[in-house]
Amino acid sequence: MSAPPYKLILVGAPGSGKGTQAQRLLEVYGARQVSTGDILRQAVKDGTPLGTEAQTFMNAGKLVPDQLIIDLIRETLGKGGFASGWVLDGFPRTLAQAEALDGMLEALGETLGHVLVLDVPAQLLIERIVGRRSCPKCGNVHHVKFSPPKQDGVCDRCGAVLVQRPDDTEEKATIRQNAFEAQTAEVIPHYESKGIVTRVDGTMSPEDVFQALERALGARL
Ligand code: AMP
Repeated sequence: MSAPPYKLILVGAPGSGKGTQAQRLLEVYGARQVSTGDILRQAVKDGTPLGTEAQTFMNAGKLVPDQLIIDLIRETLGKGGFASGWVLDGFPRTLAQAEALDGMLEALGETLGHVLVLDVPAQLLIERIVGRRSCPKCGNVHHVKFSPPKQDGVCDRCGAVLVQRPDDTEEKATIRQNAFEAQTAEVIPHYESKGIVTRVDGTMSPEDVFQALERALGARL
């Protein structure tokens, strides 16, 4: 049976619930979420050179160039502070990123334990993304139908006004799904050959998905 610290990758199309599950893994096992999407959005907000470079790609729903992302992850993992493990959310998204990660982990003397894939059909993904409303202040995520805030348009957690991410429109969501199918799906066979991939039905409730992830980790029978 495997035990914490967990070092794992969550793979899934945009809207598959990676962020929600990464949050739970942080709360329950202390494994720190490393979300390239969140880091990039913060960089855009702060107006850093990384943010300026990434913004056009992100707003168009396209992937940011590999080298930018690889450097970002190398810097983040290299800083340390992951004694309780890490959960990569949104990385790697291409085979080149997966291969670069292999090299980084080898250099750091770390071992990737699990790759957990959240499977959700395309139609449901679009519905989840288009209805998503994010809190620009605390990062909390609501959904107009599946997880509505108590007060319309207001974050339950911190009271800030919720926004729709510029890439959460139907048009951009479709482009992002296509990028996932075209590029990220090929990341999975890369890890299947290492025998560390588990697929989980991502259409279940967040609680049931989390239990399935725990079983995959060997944390729960
Ligand atoms: P996410 O929040 O994970 O859906 O990411 C939002 C956007 O950030 C994506 O549509 C890409 O433009 C960019 N992005 C995040 N992670 C990556 C990555 N690993 N490779 C390339 N682009 C990324």
